[in-house]
Amino acid sequence: MALQNIGASNRDDAFYRYKMPKMITKIEGRGNGIKTNVVNMVEIAKALARPASYTTKYFGCELGAQSKFDEKTGTSLVNGAHDTAKLAGLLENFIKKYVQCYGCGNPETEIIITKTQMINLKCAACGFVSDVDMRDKLTTFIIKNPPEQKKSSKDKKAMRRAEKERLKEGEAADEELKKLKKEAGKKKGTSASSKTTSKKKSSGSDEDHSPAHSQADENDQVAADDDDEDDVQWQTDTSLEAARQRIQEQLSAVTADMVMLSTTEEKQKSGKKSPELEKKPESNGHENGSAGSTNHGNLVEEIKGYLKKGSSLSQLQSFLGSLSGTPQGTMDALLEALFGGVGKGFAKEVTKKKNYLAAAIQEGGGSQMILLHALESFCGKASPDAAKEVALVLKALYDGDVLEEEFILEWYQKGLAGENKGSQLWKNVKPFVEWLQSAESESEEE
Ligand SMILES: [Zn+2]
Repeated sequence: MALQNIGASNRDDAFYRYKMPKMITKIEGRGNGIKTNVVNMVEIAKALARPASYTTKYFGCELGAQSKFDEKTGTSLVNGAHDTAKLAGLLENFIKKYVQCYGCGNPETEIIITKTQMINLKCAACGFVSDVDMRDKLTTFIIKNPPEQKKSSKDKKAMRRAEKERLKEGEAADEELKKLKKEAGKKKGTSASSKTTSKKKSSGSDEDHSPAHSQADENDQVAADDDDEDDVQWQTDTSLEAARQRIQEQLSAVTADMVMLSTTEEKQKSGKKSPELEKKPESNGHENGSAGSTNHGNLVEEIKGYLKKGSSLSQLQSFLGSLSGTPQGTMDALLEALFGGVGKGFAKEVTKKKNYLAAAIQEGGGSQMILLHALESFCGKASPDAAKEVALVLKALYDGDVLEEEFILEWYQKGLAGENKGSQLWKNVKPFVEWLQSAESESEEE
């Protein structure tokens, strides 16, 4: 089954987890009785966690045509002959209006009809409540045919089930992508490594800092680590495999970008001068001294400088470990170096750079708490726009297997009882925590 990302704005995001089947239509009948049958409307609607009657009716409203969804046979018919592209375009509009959170774009929302007969979309990830424009014709139909509101836990369950379905389909698509990427990656990989090799030559030799080489090492390492985890994870192997694959794909894309970045920078600086002269010495961590590194500002600059050079994640990991100062101080500085000054779009940035955080966290569970505390103080200093996205940031890190549920819950509960309990942060985090907990209790029920 051909799959595509849910939401036109996510079309080019190869790592997007919410997928739906590509629409298939068939023209039936002739003359005045000609109809368009949306053959896989039920599957699409399931992926969107919306009744297929809504999407069918939406086509009818938008096209000014009769439409009918037959609940028994699952047949979706719109009068007249309409091409697939036209209907797929309309479906995108439906998704924008009735599925995606207006705040964060996440498609995992619940339709809520208020006491005043308004339609809201409640986001399961960030908690934002979107007001649907009631001038849209479909709203009348939705008010008359509300989603099963009273059994809200059942609704949630259906949503989780739909999500699982989507994930499964997403994995299948990821597998496809993986194959394609592998092909493309072979070519990309060689060009990237030749660049790094020439860079290495020009900057003198240092055995420990060959990016191309240690990246390969790291891939093995990551694989080995995850294999150990398989024994304790209740998740299926395929989802772990898919997640790992995604991380690695992102990782190599990021590293390739960084390699390119640093080579162009060097070119700009000077034609023939050895870039080595301008670099800070990198392997004399002990001589950097505590005087500089304990200072937060210096630490941030030091990490920024290191990130700019473009090294593999395992190198970043050992670099972070070599810094003096507390693990908490290092993590605080890493967040600042990666996201300092961020505003709206904080969560997107985190999604893009989560592998850096994953690199900082591999030492065991304790470091997850450190990351959560760092996030807490970062949000305290960050712009309100950024701080508002904290639930989505947590979700991105949870989805990316950087943070685990038990640590997030522990951090949240301690935070609510701690001296910082009055903070807006906990209100912002709450919807995500509830989402986590609902997921948990439902899997227990089943
Ligand atoms: Zn949202």
